Amino acid sequence: MNKFIFVSGGVCSSLGKGVAASSIGALLESRGLNVRMVKCDPYINVDAGTMSPYQHGEVYVTDDGAETDLDLGNYARFTKGRLSQANSITTGQVYDSVIRKEREGKYLGKCVQVIPHITDEIKSRILAVSKEENDTDIVIIEIGGTVGDIESVPFLEVARQMIHEQGRMNAISVHLTLIPEVAGGELKTKPTQHSVKSMQEMGIQPDILICRSPEMLDEPTCRKIAQFTNVDLDAVFTSPNIETNIYQIPIVFSEQKLDQVLLRKMGVECRHTDMRLWHSVNDRFNARKGKVRIGIVGKYMKTHDTYTSLFEALFHASLECGVEAELVKIDSSTIDEKENAFSVLEGLDGILIPGSFGHQHQHGINGMINAAAWARTGKKPFFGICLGMQIMTIEWARNVLNWSDADSTAFSPDTKYPVVSLLQDQVNAKNYGGTMRLGAGETINENGTHIFAAYKEKKISERHRHRYEFSNKYRDDMIKSGLKLAAFTADGALVECIEWGADHPWGVAVQFHPEYKSKPMAASPLFREFIAKCQARDAK
Ligand code: GLN
Repeated sequence: MNKFIFVSGGVCSSLGKGVAASSIGALLESRGLNVRMVKCDPYINVDAGTMSPYQHGEVYVTDDGAETDLDLGNYARFTKGRLSQANSITTGQVYDSVIRKEREGKYLGKCVQVIPHITDEIKSRILAVSKEENDTDIVIIEIGGTVGDIESVPFLEVARQMIHEQGRMNAISVHLTLIPEVAGGELKTKPTQHSVKSMQEMGIQPDILICRSPEMLDEPTCRKIAQFTNVDLDAVFTSPNIETNIYQIPIVFSEQKLDQVLLRKMGVECRHTDMRLWHSVNDRFNARKGKVRIGIVGKYMKTHDTYTSLFEALFHASLECGVEAELVKIDSSTIDEKENAFSVLEGLDGILIPGSFGHQHQHGINGMINAAAWARTGKKPFFGICLGMQIMTIEWARNVLNWSDADSTAFSPDTKYPVVSLLQDQVNAKNYGGTMRLGAGETINENGTHIFAAYKEKKISERHRHRYEFSNKYRDDMIKSGLKLAAFTADGALVECIEWGADHPWGVAVQFHPEYKSKPMAASPLFREFIAKCQARDAK
Protein backbone atom coordinates (compact mmCIF):
# COMPACT_ATOMS: atom_id res chain seq x y z
CA MET A 1 0.00 0.00 0.00
CA ASN A 2 1.30 3.47 -0.78
CA LYS A 3 -1.29 6.11 0.03
CA PHE A 4 -1.03 9.83 0.65
CA ILE A 5 -2.80 12.19 3.02
CA PHE A 6 -2.30 15.91 2.39
CA VAL A 7 -2.90 18.05 5.45
CA SER A 8 -3.45 21.74 4.72
CA GLY A 9 -4.64 24.65 6.82
CA GLY A 10 -6.91 27.59 6.37
CA VAL A 11 -8.15 30.80 8.03
CA CYS A 12 -4.95 31.48 9.96
CA SER A 13 -1.70 29.91 11.07
CA SER A 14 -0.87 28.39 14.47
CA LEU A 15 -3.97 26.19 14.58
CA GLY A 16 -1.94 23.15 15.54
CA LYS A 17 -1.69 21.64 12.08
CA GLY A 18 1.52 19.85 13.00
CA VAL A 19 -0.02 18.27 16.08
CA ALA A 20 -3.15 17.37 14.08
CA ALA A 21 -1.07 15.74 11.33
CA SER A 22 1.02 13.92 13.96
CA SER A 23 -2.11 12.75 15.76
CA ILE A 24 -3.49 11.32 12.51
CA GLY A 25 -0.16 9.53 12.12
CA ALA A 26 -0.45 8.19 15.67
CA LEU A 27 -4.00 6.95 15.04
CA LEU A 28 -2.96 5.11 11.90
CA GLU A 29 0.03 3.57 13.65
CA SER A 30 -2.23 2.42 16.45
CA ARG A 31 -4.05 0.45 13.74
CA GLY A 32 -0.81 -1.24 12.78
CA LEU A 33 -0.11 0.80 9.65
CA ASN A 34 3.37 2.03 8.71
CA VAL A 35 3.31 5.80 8.44
CA ARG A 36 5.87 8.32 7.23
CA MET A 37 5.55 12.05 7.78
CA VAL A 38 6.67 14.87 5.47
CA LYS A 39 6.63 18.61 6.10
CA CYS A 40 6.51 21.04 3.18
CA ASP A 41 7.61 24.51 4.17
CA PRO A 42 6.84 27.26 1.68
CA TYR A 43 9.65 29.61 2.75
CA ILE A 44 12.63 30.32 0.48
CA ASN A 45 15.23 29.52 3.14
CA VAL A 46 16.93 26.24 2.29
CA ASP A 47 16.34 25.13 5.88
CA ALA A 48 15.24 26.53 9.21
CA GLY A 49 18.83 26.77 10.46
CA THR A 50 19.44 30.41 9.62
CA MET A 51 16.14 31.72 10.95
CA SER A 52 15.70 33.55 14.23
CA PRO A 53 13.75 31.62 16.85
CA TYR A 54 11.50 34.68 17.19
CA GLN A 55 10.49 34.24 13.55
CA HIS A 56 10.42 30.53 13.26
CA GLY A 57 10.47 28.86 16.66
CA GLU A 58 12.62 25.85 17.38
CA VAL A 59 14.94 24.31 14.84
CA TYR A 60 14.46 20.56 15.11
CA VAL A 61 17.59 18.57 14.24
CA THR A 62 17.48 15.05 12.81
CA ASP A 63 20.15 12.34 13.15
CA ASP A 64 21.54 13.20 9.72
CA GLY A 65 21.97 16.81 10.79
CA ALA A 66 19.08 18.43 8.93
CA GLU A 67 17.92 21.68 10.55
CA THR A 68 14.18 21.38 10.15
CA ASP A 69 10.85 22.79 11.17
CA LEU A 70 9.62 22.22 14.70
CA ASP A 71 6.77 20.08 13.37
CA LEU A 72 9.27 17.31 12.72
CA GLY A 73 9.69 17.27 16.48
CA ASN A 74 5.95 16.66 16.82
CA TYR A 75 6.16 13.85 14.27
CA ALA A 76 9.03 12.32 16.25
CA ARG A 77 7.06 12.45 19.51
CA PHE A 78 3.78 11.09 18.10
CA THR A 79 4.94 8.59 15.48
CA LYS A 80 7.63 5.97 14.98
CA GLY A 81 8.74 6.50 11.36
CA ARG A 82 12.30 7.55 10.64
CA LEU A 83 12.88 11.27 10.07
CA SER A 84 15.74 12.78 8.12
CA GLN A 85 16.45 15.58 5.67
CA ALA A 86 14.17 13.82 3.18
CA ASN A 87 11.14 14.49 5.40
CA SER A 88 11.55 18.25 5.31
CA ILE A 89 10.94 19.91 1.94
CA THR A 90 11.31 23.68 1.59
CA THR A 91 10.78 25.99 -1.35
CA GLY A 92 14.44 26.95 -0.97
CA GLN A 93 15.63 23.35 -1.41
CA VAL A 94 13.31 22.74 -4.33
CA TYR A 95 14.36 25.85 -6.24
CA ASP A 96 17.99 25.23 -5.37
CA SER A 97 17.94 21.79 -6.98
CA VAL A 98 15.84 22.86 -9.97
CA ILE A 99 18.19 25.77 -10.68
CA ARG A 100 21.23 23.50 -10.33
CA LYS A 101 19.71 21.05 -12.81
CA GLU A 102 18.95 23.90 -15.19
CA ARG A 103 22.60 25.04 -15.03
CA GLU A 104 23.72 21.47 -15.71
CA GLY A 105 21.54 21.47 -18.82
CA LYS A 106 19.32 18.69 -17.51
CA TYR A 107 16.12 20.26 -18.86
CA LEU A 108 17.30 19.85 -22.46
CA GLY A 109 16.53 23.33 -23.69
CA LYS A 110 13.10 23.60 -22.10
CA CYS A 111 11.76 26.74 -20.48
CA VAL A 112 11.89 25.86 -16.77
CA GLN A 113 8.62 26.68 -15.03
CA VAL A 114 6.78 26.35 -11.72
CA ILE A 115 4.47 23.81 -13.36
CA PRO A 116 5.74 21.21 -14.17
CA HIS A 117 9.38 21.58 -13.06
CA ILE A 118 9.01 22.90 -9.52
CA THR A 119 5.95 20.76 -8.88
CA ASP A 120 7.66 17.66 -10.32
CA GLU A 121 10.62 18.22 -8.03
CA ILE A 122 8.30 18.42 -4.99
CA LYS A 123 6.41 15.35 -6.15
CA SER A 124 9.54 13.31 -6.69
CA ARG A 125 10.68 14.14 -3.15
CA ILE A 126 7.34 13.03 -1.67
CA LEU A 127 7.40 9.82 -3.74
CA ALA A 128 11.00 9.18 -2.65
CA VAL A 129 9.87 9.17 1.00
CA SER A 130 7.04 6.77 0.15
CA LYS A 131 9.56 4.38 -1.44
CA GLU A 132 12.40 4.79 1.06
CA GLU A 133 11.20 1.73 2.96
CA ASN A 134 9.30 -1.01 1.25
CA ASP A 135 6.64 -1.43 3.93
CA THR A 136 5.33 2.15 4.01
CA ASP A 137 1.54 2.19 3.94
CA ILE A 138 0.70 5.86 4.20
CA VAL A 139 2.65 9.12 3.80
CA ILE A 140 1.19 12.13 5.55
CA ILE A 141 2.27 15.38 3.93
CA GLU A 142 1.71 18.53 5.95
CA ILE A 143 1.69 21.68 3.84
CA GLY A 144 2.92 24.66 5.84
CA GLY A 145 1.24 28.04 5.66
CA THR A 146 -2.39 28.79 4.95
CA VAL A 147 -4.42 28.25 1.78
CA GLY A 148 -4.46 31.55 -0.07
CA ASP A 149 -0.77 32.31 0.61
CA ILE A 150 1.19 32.89 -2.58
CA GLU A 151 4.04 30.75 -1.25
CA SER A 152 1.97 27.58 -0.70
CA VAL A 153 0.53 27.47 -4.22
CA PRO A 154 3.08 25.01 -5.74
CA PHE A 155 2.65 22.62 -2.80
CA LEU A 156 -1.15 22.67 -3.02
CA GLU A 157 -0.84 22.21 -6.77
CA VAL A 158 1.20 19.07 -6.06
CA ALA A 159 -1.58 17.86 -3.74
CA ARG A 160 -4.11 18.49 -6.52
CA GLN A 161 -2.03 16.64 -9.10
CA MET A 162 -1.32 13.70 -6.82
CA ILE A 163 -4.97 13.32 -5.78
CA HIS A 164 -5.83 13.27 -9.48
CA GLU A 165 -3.01 10.93 -10.50
CA GLN A 166 -3.20 8.49 -7.61
CA GLY A 167 -6.99 8.44 -7.49
CA ARG A 168 -9.18 9.56 -4.60
CA MET A 169 -8.84 6.26 -2.77
CA ASN A 170 -5.07 6.67 -2.70
CA ALA A 171 -4.60 10.35 -1.99
CA ILE A 172 -6.90 12.49 0.09
CA SER A 173 -7.12 15.99 1.49
CA VAL A 174 -7.52 16.81 5.17
CA HIS A 175 -8.11 20.51 5.78
CA LEU A 176 -7.78 22.21 9.16
CA THR A 177 -9.65 25.43 9.80
CA LEU A 178 -10.64 27.72 12.65
CA ILE A 179 -14.16 28.21 13.99
CA PRO A 180 -13.81 31.48 15.89
CA GLU A 181 -16.05 32.51 18.73
CA VAL A 182 -17.43 36.03 18.51
CA ALA A 183 -18.82 38.23 21.28
CA GLY A 184 -21.78 36.52 22.85
CA GLY A 185 -20.14 33.12 22.57
CA GLU A 186 -21.40 32.37 19.08
CA LEU A 187 -19.25 30.06 16.93
CA LYS A 188 -18.78 31.24 13.34
CA THR A 189 -18.47 28.89 10.38
CA LYS A 190 -18.02 31.53 7.64
CA PRO A 191 -14.18 31.58 7.69
CA THR A 192 -14.26 27.79 7.22
CA GLN A 193 -16.64 28.08 4.29
CA HIS A 194 -14.27 30.60 2.68
CA SER A 195 -11.25 28.50 3.41
CA VAL A 196 -12.77 25.46 1.71
CA LYS A 197 -13.75 27.69 -1.25
CA SER A 198 -10.09 28.70 -1.55
CA MET A 199 -9.15 25.00 -1.60
CA GLN A 200 -11.77 24.35 -4.28
CA GLU A 201 -10.36 27.23 -6.34
CA MET A 202 -7.04 25.37 -6.19
CA GLY A 203 -8.86 22.33 -7.58
CA ILE A 204 -8.91 20.43 -4.30
CA GLN A 205 -12.09 19.24 -2.61
CA PRO A 206 -11.20 18.50 1.02
CA ASP A 207 -12.32 15.00 2.03
CA ILE A 208 -12.06 15.67 5.72
CA LEU A 209 -12.37 18.87 7.74
CA ILE A 210 -10.88 19.32 11.16
CA CYS A 211 -12.29 22.44 12.79
CA ARG A 212 -10.27 23.99 15.53
CA SER A 213 -12.77 25.40 17.95
CA PRO A 214 -12.94 26.43 21.61
CA GLU A 215 -15.48 23.65 22.19
CA MET A 216 -16.89 20.55 20.46
CA LEU A 217 -19.08 21.56 17.52
CA ASP A 218 -22.71 20.46 17.79
CA GLU A 219 -24.53 18.55 15.07
CA PRO A 220 -26.34 21.56 13.49
CA THR A 221 -23.04 23.43 13.16
CA CYS A 222 -21.34 20.42 11.54
CA ARG A 223 -24.35 20.00 9.24
CA LYS A 224 -24.09 23.64 8.17
CA ILE A 225 -20.35 23.29 7.49
CA ALA A 226 -20.94 20.09 5.50
CA GLN A 227 -23.67 21.73 3.44
CA PHE A 228 -21.50 24.69 2.47
CA THR A 229 -18.34 22.75 1.77
CA ASN A 230 -19.37 19.52 0.01
CA VAL A 231 -17.70 17.58 2.82
CA ASP A 232 -19.65 14.58 4.19
CA LEU A 233 -21.32 15.28 7.52
CA ASP A 234 -19.44 12.41 9.19
CA ALA A 235 -16.16 13.85 7.88
CA VAL A 236 -16.45 17.14 9.80
CA PHE A 237 -14.45 16.87 13.02
CA THR A 238 -13.60 19.15 15.92
CA SER A 239 -10.20 19.79 17.37
CA PRO A 240 -11.22 21.43 20.65
CA ASN A 241 -8.83 23.36 22.88
CA ILE A 242 -7.22 20.83 25.20
CA GLU A 243 -6.48 21.99 28.73
CA THR A 244 -4.39 19.02 29.77
CA ASN A 245 -1.73 18.04 27.22
CA ILE A 246 -1.37 17.62 23.47
CA TYR A 247 -1.05 13.83 23.71
CA GLN A 248 -4.81 13.71 24.30
CA ILE A 249 -5.50 14.82 20.75
CA PRO A 250 -5.16 11.33 19.22
CA ILE A 251 -7.77 10.18 21.77
CA VAL A 252 -10.10 13.09 21.00
CA PHE A 253 -9.82 12.33 17.28
CA SER A 254 -10.31 8.60 17.78
CA GLU A 255 -13.44 9.19 19.91
CA GLN A 256 -14.89 11.07 16.93
CA LYS A 257 -13.91 8.14 14.66
CA LEU A 258 -11.62 10.26 12.53
CA ASP A 259 -9.37 7.30 11.76
CA GLN A 260 -12.30 5.12 10.74
CA VAL A 261 -13.64 7.74 8.31
CA LEU A 262 -10.16 8.35 6.94
CA LEU A 263 -9.55 4.66 6.32
CA ARG A 264 -12.99 4.14 4.84
CA LYS A 265 -12.36 6.94 2.37
CA MET A 266 -9.06 5.33 1.41
CA GLY A 267 -10.59 1.88 1.19
CA VAL A 268 -8.34 0.45 3.91
CA GLU A 269 -9.75 -2.43 5.92
CA CYS A 270 -8.36 -2.14 9.42
CA ARG A 271 -10.61 -3.06 12.31
CA HIS A 272 -8.38 -3.34 15.32
CA THR A 273 -6.95 -0.34 17.11
CA ASP A 274 -4.71 -0.14 20.15
CA MET A 275 -4.80 3.23 21.87
CA ARG A 276 -3.28 2.05 25.16
CA LEU A 277 -0.18 4.13 24.69
CA TRP A 278 -2.11 7.40 24.56
CA HIS A 279 -4.44 6.43 27.40
CA SER A 280 -1.46 5.61 29.56
CA VAL A 281 -0.07 9.12 29.00
CA ASN A 282 -3.37 10.40 30.34
CA ASP A 283 -3.30 8.02 33.32
CA ARG A 284 0.21 9.07 34.24
CA PHE A 285 -0.72 12.72 33.76
CA ASN A 286 -3.59 12.35 36.22
CA ALA A 287 -1.50 10.33 38.69
CA ARG A 288 1.16 13.03 39.16
CA LYS A 289 1.57 14.18 42.73
CA GLY A 290 3.23 17.35 44.02
CA LYS A 291 5.11 19.92 42.04
CA VAL A 292 8.67 20.95 41.31
CA ARG A 293 9.48 24.47 40.20
CA ILE A 294 12.11 24.60 37.48
CA GLY A 295 13.72 27.88 36.51
CA ILE A 296 14.43 27.99 32.78
CA VAL A 297 16.92 30.78 32.38
CA GLY A 298 17.54 31.90 28.83
CA LYS A 299 17.22 34.36 26.06
CA TYR A 300 14.11 33.51 24.05
CA MET A 301 11.73 33.11 26.95
CA LYS A 302 8.79 35.04 25.56
CA THR A 303 8.05 32.69 22.67
CA HIS A 304 6.97 29.17 23.60
CA ASP A 305 7.83 27.74 20.18
CA THR A 306 11.56 28.38 20.61
CA TYR A 307 11.85 25.49 23.04
CA THR A 308 9.05 23.11 22.05
CA SER A 309 11.19 19.96 22.32
CA LEU A 310 12.72 21.13 25.59
CA PHE A 311 9.34 21.80 27.21
CA GLU A 312 8.00 18.49 25.92
CA ALA A 313 11.05 16.63 27.26
CA LEU A 314 10.47 18.19 30.68
CA PHE A 315 6.83 17.13 30.45
CA HIS A 316 7.81 13.54 29.54
CA ALA A 317 10.23 13.48 32.46
CA SER A 318 7.57 14.82 34.83
CA LEU A 319 5.24 11.98 33.75
CA GLU A 320 7.97 9.46 34.42
CA CYS A 321 8.75 10.95 37.84
CA GLY A 322 5.04 11.29 38.73
CA VAL A 323 5.31 14.96 39.58
CA GLU A 324 4.11 18.17 37.98
CA ALA A 325 6.93 20.35 36.64
CA GLU A 326 6.06 24.02 36.86
CA LEU A 327 8.28 25.90 34.43
CA VAL A 328 9.30 29.35 35.57
CA LYS A 329 10.66 31.10 32.49
CA ILE A 330 13.20 33.75 33.33
CA ASP A 331 14.61 36.15 30.75
CA SER A 332 18.29 36.02 31.72
CA SER A 333 18.87 39.67 30.85
CA THR A 334 16.67 40.59 33.83
CA ILE A 335 19.09 38.90 36.24
CA ASP A 336 22.41 40.21 34.95
CA GLU A 337 22.99 41.73 38.44
CA LYS A 338 24.10 39.03 40.86
CA GLU A 339 22.20 40.16 43.99
CA ASN A 340 19.02 40.59 42.02
CA ALA A 341 19.57 37.21 40.39
CA PHE A 342 19.85 35.37 43.68
CA SER A 343 16.64 36.89 45.01
CA VAL A 344 14.69 36.20 41.77
CA LEU A 345 15.79 32.55 41.81
CA GLU A 346 14.92 32.01 45.47
CA GLY A 347 12.45 29.17 45.94
CA LEU A 348 13.20 27.30 42.71
CA ASP A 349 13.92 23.57 42.93
CA GLY A 350 16.32 23.50 40.00
CA ILE A 351 17.78 25.48 37.12
CA LEU A 352 17.90 24.62 33.47
CA ILE A 353 19.89 26.67 30.96
CA PRO A 354 18.87 25.70 27.44
CA GLY A 355 20.64 26.08 24.12
CA SER A 356 20.80 29.55 22.63
CA PHE A 357 22.81 31.81 20.39
CA GLY A 358 24.51 35.07 21.25
CA HIS A 359 26.94 37.63 20.02
CA GLN A 360 29.57 39.96 21.40
CA HIS A 361 28.51 41.85 24.52
CA GLN A 362 25.24 39.93 24.53
CA HIS A 363 22.89 40.92 27.36
CA GLY A 364 21.78 38.07 29.54
CA ILE A 365 24.94 35.97 29.48
CA ASN A 366 25.84 37.21 32.95
CA GLY A 367 22.29 36.39 34.03
CA MET A 368 22.80 32.79 32.97
CA ILE A 369 26.18 32.70 34.72
CA ASN A 370 24.51 34.06 37.86
CA ALA A 371 21.87 31.33 37.66
CA ALA A 372 24.58 28.67 37.38
CA ALA A 373 26.44 30.21 40.34
CA TRP A 374 23.24 30.21 42.39
CA ALA A 375 22.62 26.53 41.67
CA ARG A 376 26.26 25.55 42.33
CA THR A 377 26.70 27.42 45.59
CA GLY A 378 23.13 26.71 46.75
CA LYS A 379 23.48 23.01 45.86
CA LYS A 380 20.42 23.02 43.65
CA PRO A 381 20.07 20.61 40.70
CA PHE A 382 21.38 22.23 37.54
CA PHE A 383 21.03 21.09 33.95
CA GLY A 384 22.84 22.86 31.11
CA ILE A 385 22.22 22.14 27.46
CA CYS A 386 24.59 23.29 24.73
CA LEU A 387 25.01 26.99 25.54
CA GLY A 388 24.12 25.85 29.07
CA MET A 389 27.30 23.75 29.17
CA GLN A 390 29.33 26.67 27.87
CA ILE A 391 27.82 28.85 30.62
CA MET A 392 28.63 26.25 33.27
CA THR A 393 32.24 26.25 32.01
CA ILE A 394 32.53 30.04 32.13
CA GLU A 395 30.93 30.19 35.60
CA TRP A 396 33.45 27.67 36.93
CA ALA A 397 36.39 29.51 35.37
CA ARG A 398 35.28 32.88 36.75
CA ASN A 399 34.09 31.89 40.20
CA VAL A 400 36.16 28.82 41.13
CA LEU A 401 39.39 29.40 39.20
CA ASN A 402 38.96 33.14 39.77
CA TRP A 403 39.64 33.99 36.16
CA SER A 404 37.29 36.94 36.26
CA ASP A 405 37.79 37.66 32.57
CA ALA A 406 37.00 34.08 31.40
CA ASP A 407 34.48 33.88 28.61
CA SER A 408 33.47 32.27 25.33
CA THR A 409 35.07 33.89 22.31
CA ALA A 410 31.50 34.22 21.02
CA PHE A 411 30.85 36.90 23.62
CA SER A 412 34.31 38.42 24.11
CA PRO A 413 36.81 37.55 21.37
CA ASP A 414 39.74 39.10 23.26
CA THR A 415 39.24 37.42 26.63
CA LYS A 416 42.43 36.34 28.43
CA TYR A 417 40.78 32.99 29.23
CA PRO A 418 38.82 31.73 26.21
CA VAL A 419 37.43 28.68 28.02
CA VAL A 420 34.89 28.20 25.21
CA SER A 421 36.11 28.75 21.68
CA LEU A 422 35.87 27.76 18.03
CA LEU A 423 37.68 24.83 16.46
CA GLN A 424 39.72 25.66 13.36
CA ASP A 425 37.16 24.24 10.91
CA GLN A 426 34.59 26.63 12.33
CA VAL A 427 37.00 29.57 12.05
CA ASN A 428 37.44 28.65 8.37
CA ALA A 429 33.72 28.13 7.66
CA LYS A 430 32.58 30.63 5.08
CA ASN A 431 28.88 29.87 4.90
CA TYR A 432 26.54 30.49 7.78
CA GLY A 433 23.87 27.92 6.86
CA GLY A 434 24.42 24.23 7.60
CA THR A 435 27.99 24.61 8.89
CA MET A 436 27.54 24.02 12.62
CA ARG A 437 28.38 20.70 14.24
CA LEU A 438 25.09 19.08 13.38
CA GLY A 439 23.26 15.82 13.92
CA ALA A 440 23.94 12.54 15.69
CA GLY A 441 27.29 11.97 17.31
CA GLU A 442 28.60 9.25 19.58
CA THR A 443 29.44 10.17 23.15
CA ILE A 444 31.39 7.99 25.58
CA ASN A 445 30.38 8.40 29.20
CA GLU A 446 32.99 8.03 31.95
CA ASN A 447 32.23 5.55 34.74
CA GLY A 448 31.02 6.95 38.04
CA THR A 449 29.37 10.03 36.55
CA HIS A 450 25.79 11.32 36.68
CA ILE A 451 25.51 11.00 32.93
CA PHE A 452 26.51 7.35 33.06
CA ALA A 453 24.02 6.77 35.89
CA ALA A 454 21.27 8.42 33.80
CA TYR A 455 21.82 6.49 30.57
CA LYS A 456 23.16 3.33 32.24
CA GLU A 457 25.34 2.99 29.18
CA LYS A 458 28.83 3.92 28.24
CA LYS A 459 28.20 4.67 24.60
CA ILE A 460 25.28 6.90 23.64
CA SER A 461 24.22 8.86 20.59
CA GLU A 462 22.64 12.30 20.79
CA ARG A 463 22.24 15.18 18.37
CA HIS A 464 24.25 18.35 18.16
CA ARG A 465 23.74 21.88 16.91
CA HIS A 466 26.51 24.26 17.88
CA ARG A 467 29.77 25.89 16.77
CA TYR A 468 31.67 26.56 19.98
CA GLU A 469 33.42 23.95 22.11
CA PHE A 470 34.87 23.54 25.59
CA SER A 471 38.52 24.66 25.08
CA ASN A 472 40.81 21.68 25.42
CA LYS A 473 43.78 23.73 26.59
CA TYR A 474 42.02 24.30 29.92
CA ARG A 475 41.12 20.65 30.56
CA ASP A 476 43.84 20.19 33.21
CA ASP A 477 43.04 23.41 35.06
CA MET A 478 39.37 22.49 35.14
CA ILE A 479 39.98 18.93 36.37
CA LYS A 480 42.50 20.02 39.01
CA SER A 481 40.07 22.56 40.40
CA GLY A 482 37.38 19.87 40.77
CA LEU A 483 35.26 20.07 37.62
CA LYS A 484 34.44 16.62 36.28
CA LEU A 485 34.84 16.01 32.55
CA ALA A 486 32.20 13.31 32.39
CA ALA A 487 31.87 12.42 28.71
CA PHE A 488 33.77 12.86 25.46
CA THR A 489 33.30 12.34 21.76
CA ALA A 490 34.23 8.79 20.67
CA ASP A 491 37.71 9.97 19.59
CA GLY A 492 38.22 11.74 22.91
CA ALA A 493 38.84 15.02 21.10
CA LEU A 494 35.92 17.02 22.46
CA VAL A 495 34.30 17.37 25.86
CA GLU A 496 30.61 16.41 25.70
CA CYS A 497 29.57 16.63 29.35
CA ILE A 498 30.80 18.37 32.48
CA GLU A 499 29.65 17.88 36.07
CA TRP A 500 30.14 19.54 39.40
CA GLY A 501 31.99 17.24 41.77
CA ALA A 502 30.85 15.09 44.68
CA ASP A 503 29.97 18.01 46.97
CA HIS A 504 27.10 18.99 44.70
CA PRO A 505 23.92 16.86 44.37
CA TRP A 506 23.48 17.09 40.59
CA GLY A 507 25.07 19.64 38.30
CA VAL A 508 25.28 18.27 34.75
CA ALA A 509 25.70 20.02 31.43
CA VAL A 510 25.98 18.54 27.96
CA GLN A 511 27.10 19.95 24.63
CA PHE A 512 24.42 18.00 22.76
CA HIS A 513 20.62 18.38 22.74
CA PRO A 514 18.99 15.41 24.48
CA GLU A 515 15.54 17.03 24.17
CA TYR A 516 15.24 16.04 20.49
CA LYS A 517 14.97 12.33 21.27
CA SER A 518 12.62 12.48 24.25
CA LYS A 519 9.27 10.69 23.82
CA PRO A 520 6.07 10.78 25.87
CA MET A 521 6.57 7.14 26.83
CA ALA A 522 10.37 7.27 27.10
CA ALA A 523 11.67 10.47 28.62
CA SER A 524 15.22 11.47 27.84
CA PRO A 525 17.39 10.02 30.66
CA LEU A 526 19.02 13.31 31.67
CA PHE A 527 15.68 15.12 31.83
CA ARG A 528 14.30 12.30 33.95
CA GLU A 529 17.26 12.42 36.35
CA PHE A 530 17.11 16.21 36.56
CA ILE A 531 13.42 16.22 37.50
CA ALA A 532 13.98 13.33 39.91
CA LYS A 533 16.75 15.26 41.66
CA CYS A 534 14.59 18.41 41.88
CA GLN A 535 11.83 16.24 43.30
CA ALA A 536 14.14 14.71 45.88
CA ARG A 537 15.06 18.18 47.09
CA ASP A 538 11.39 19.13 47.14
CA ALA A 539 10.62 16.16 49.37
CA LYS A 540 13.21 17.24 51.94
N1 GLN B 1 25.86 29.43 20.54
C1 GLN B 1 26.51 28.26 20.99
C2 GLN B 1 27.32 27.58 19.90
O1 GLN B 1 27.14 27.86 18.75
C3 GLN B 1 25.50 27.28 21.57
C4 GLN B 1 24.58 26.74 20.55
C5 GLN B 1 23.38 26.10 21.16
O2 GLN B 1 23.13 26.25 22.34
N2 GLN B 1 22.61 25.41 20.36
O3 GLN B 1 28.14 26.75 20.17
